[in-house]
Amino acid sequence: GLAVSALATSLVACGKDDTGSGSGSGSGGAKKVALLLPESKTTRYEALDRPLFTEALKAACGDCQLIYSNADQDAAKQQQQAEAALTQGANVLVLDPVDGKAAAAVAASAKAQSVPVVAYDRFIENANYYVSFENEAVGKLQAQTLVDALKAAGKTSGNLAMINGSPTDPNAADFKKGAHSVLDSSGFKIAAEFDTPDWSPDKAQGWMEGQLSAIKNGLVGVYAANDGTAGGAIAALKGGGVKPLPPVTGQDSELAAIQRIIAGDQAMTIYKAVKPQAEAAAKGAVALANGGKPESTTEKNGVPSTILDPVAVTKDNIKDTVVKDNIYKVTDICTAS
Ligand code: BGC
Repeated sequence: GLAVSALATSLVACGKDDTGSGSGSGSGGAKKVALLLPESKTTRYEALDRPLFTEALKAACGDCQLIYSNADQDAAKQQQQAEAALTQGANVLVLDPVDGKAAAAVAASAKAQSVPVVAYDRFIENANYYVSFENEAVGKLQAQTLVDALKAAGKTSGNLAMINGSPTDPNAADFKKGAHSVLDSSGFKIAAEFDTPDWSPDKAQGWMEGQLSAIKNGLVGVYAANDGTAGGAIAALKGGGVKPLPPVTGQDSELAAIQRIIAGDQAMTIYKAVKPQAEAAAKGAVALANGGKPESTTEKNGVPSTILDPVAVTKDNIKDTVVKDNIYKVTDICTAS
């Protein structure tokens, strides 16, 4: 019948159906894929996730149309953006939620309209597919690298400050859990701890400034959950005249963080290869848009998942990680100063 041939046409147009092709609604025509990212203060989203997803979508489906939006850390705005994408006829939502719980409702209304949802980087209950990293391992790697740096400097006790991510981001809870599993039994004392609203670097800085008079003297290290909050913490420490700077952790391998590591201002960051993440999400989204199933290697809370491995980056392996994978050229990192 007509519907079947329309489906066949769209599958041919979308090429690569090695991911399976089920019996979708097959409305025919080019599929619309919505990518909804959470914020832009963290550089990965506009610098890596967006262009890499765009490229991967083109490779997975030549004539798919991308609907893109960024919520600027505003959950209500993201909900409107998701609704707008549905109104525009999106066939699948790839959603990196500002607020994981609020996103479950968005996902439910998408699914009620037979639009599948890919949970991108942050988990969403009842999503059709989830692509992320081993997030507890991120927290463990951050904390272990911090403890190793302290021990290498001959320290076995002293105060730590912990700056976690946003309470609405399910990943933040995983990073925190992983970090605590190492720090709580490390011999160091967590003297102060903060969950940073919206992952805002400014709020992390403000909090660190407020803590300085109380914990400055015995402070030996700072756990910061990502590079944005690390940047805020380091600015606060420098502004408060803390010398030498204690080791500070981070995540995302932002260019500024890689430069701080080389300058000795930040101890480490985490490299999460966004390219395979974007590729898995794009392929999975195209499969779902065509009524098929994404390739998955595991599952989380019943959601088929692809989970990638994070890598700790210190000054010793910058070349073997972000430079080797062509995220940055040496000339990007080492700008004349
Ligand atoms: C991501 C991190 C990012 C943070 C702030 C987390 O969900 O996994 O890579 O630094 O959000 O946007």
